[in-house]
Amino acid sequence: MAVSFLLSPEQEQLKAAARGFAEEHLRDLAAAVRAEPDPLTRALLARPVIEKAVGLGFLKGLVPAPFGGSASSGVDAAIFIEEWAVHSPDLTISLAGPLIALAPVYEAGTPEQIRRFVAPFLADSGAPLAAMAFSEPEGSANFDAPTGTRTTATPDGDDYVINGRKAWASHLSGWDGDGPDLMTIVCRAPGGVSLIVAEREHLAGHVEVEEHYDLPGLRGCLTSRVRLHDVRVPRGNLLGAEGQGVALTRNAFLPSGASIGIFAVAAMRGAFDVALRFATTETRGGAVPIIDHQAVSDVLADAKGRIEAVRLLTWRALDAVMAQHPAAPELALHAKVFGSETGVEVLNDLVKLVGVTAYDEAFPIVEYLHEALAYPVIEGSNIGVRRRQLQDLLRTPGYDPLAASGMS
Ligand SMILES: Cc1cc2nc3c(=O)[nH]c(=O)nc-3n(C[C@H](O)[C@H](O)[C@H](O)COP(=O)(O)OP(=O)(O)OC[C@H]3O[C@@H](n4cnc5c(N)ncnc54)[C@H](O)[C@@H]3O)c2cc1C
Repeated sequence: MAVSFLLSPEQEQLKAAARGFAEEHLRDLAAAVRAEPDPLTRALLARPVIEKAVGLGFLKGLVPAPFGGSASSGVDAAIFIEEWAVHSPDLTISLAGPLIALAPVYEAGTPEQIRRFVAPFLADSGAPLAAMAFSEPEGSANFDAPTGTRTTATPDGDDYVINGRKAWASHLSGWDGDGPDLMTIVCRAPGGVSLIVAEREHLAGHVEVEEHYDLPGLRGCLTSRVRLHDVRVPRGNLLGAEGQGVALTRNAFLPSGASIGIFAVAAMRGAFDVALRFATTETRGGAVPIIDHQAVSDVLADAKGRIEAVRLLTWRALDAVMAQHPAAPELALHAKVFGSETGVEVLNDLVKLVGVTAYDEAFPIVEYLHEALAYPVIEGSNIGVRRRQLQDLLRTPGYDPLAASGMS
C-alpha cells in the first residue's frame, strides 16, 4: 500500500533512540539554558551535547543518503525533530544548520563541491556547524529586489571578495567568533544574487560580531549580527551560476520551512501534556477537576485535533520535500504557515485554560508559547515571505488545486 500512517519498525526504533537521547541530555540542557542570562554563554552550553549527538550519528541522519548521510525519508526527519524539539527546539535548530546551508549544495553543487562541503557533516566526532547567511539587518523579505541583497561579492583574480552584514542565522560566528565550518552566503555578484560557500579557513579573522541577540524564546540559539569584511573565497566555491541565487535560496528554505510545522507540533504537544495534567488534577476550589467543565474539555479537544492535523500535514510536506515531489513547495508552505499559526493559537488557548497559574515563570507552559511565537516569523516570516510565495503559486497559470494532494 502506498499510503500508510503506521510507523515502520525502523521508525519506531528511531523514535525510541531520539526520545532516549532527548530525555537523557536535552531536558537538563534546556533547564541550564533557561537559567543562564548571557546569550553567548548559554549557546555554548549546547556544544558537549552536540558532540554526543554527532558521535551517535544524529547529524549524519540529517544528510540525505545519496550524499553520504543516512536521512532516507521526510517522516523520519519529522519523528526525530519532534522528539528533540519537545525538550530543546533551540538545540535542534542549532544542530540542523546543514539542513538549510547544504540544500543548495545538493541542488547545484558539482560532485567535487558536494564531496568537499558535505564531508565535515559526515564526521563521527566534533561539533561541526553550518550557517545559511541569508538574512541581513536591513531586511530580507525583498532579497530578490534590486536593492534587496546588500552583501556583495566582487571578483578579484581567482577569488571573490565578500563584504556586507548578515543577521539572525544560527551560528554565523561559530563557536569561537571565527565563523562556522561552512557558511553559505547569499550575496550580490556581478551576475545577480548568487550563493557562495565560505569555509572556515576563509572566514577566520574576517567575521566581526556586532551583537548576539537575546531571544525571548529559543534562547539557546546563537543568533547574531555580524559584519563580513574582505572574506576571500575561491571562485570555485560559487554554487551553480551567478544569478541563480534567488531560486536556490527559495528552495533551500523548503525543508526547514516545512519542518517548522513539526517544531510547532512539539511545542503544542509539550504544553498539551501540562494543560491536560492541570485539568485532570486541579479543582481550583470547585467540586470537580476542571476538565469536568465542558468549556475546559472543549479547549483540550480542539487543541488535540489541531495537533494531529498539523503533524499529518507536516509529515506529508516533509515526505514530498525529501522525495522532490512537484507538490513539495505548496505543502511545505502550508506546513510552515498553517503549522506555525495554529501553534500560536493552540498555545494561547492552553495558557488561558490553565489561567493565572500559567503566568508564573516557574509553571512550565508559557515557555512553549515563547517558542511558538518564533515560528511565524522565522524561516521567512509568514506575512513578508511565505504568503507571497503562496500567492505566486495560486496565480500560476493552470494552477490545479487538487494536484498537491494527488487528487487531480
Ligand atoms: C532562531 C532564529 C533562527 C534563524 N535562522 C536563520 C538562518 O539560519 N538563516 C537566515 O538567513 N535567517 C535566519 N533567521 C531569520 C528568519 O529566517 C527571518 O524569517 C528572515 O530574516 C525573514 O524575515 P522577515 O520576513 O521578517 O523579513 P523583513 O525583511 O525583516 O520583513 C519584515 C516585515 O516587513 C513586511 N514586509 C516586507 N516586505 C514585504 C513584502 N514584499 N510583502 C509583504 N510584507 C512585507 C512583513 O510584515 C515582514 O514580516 C532566523 C531567525 C531566528 C529568530
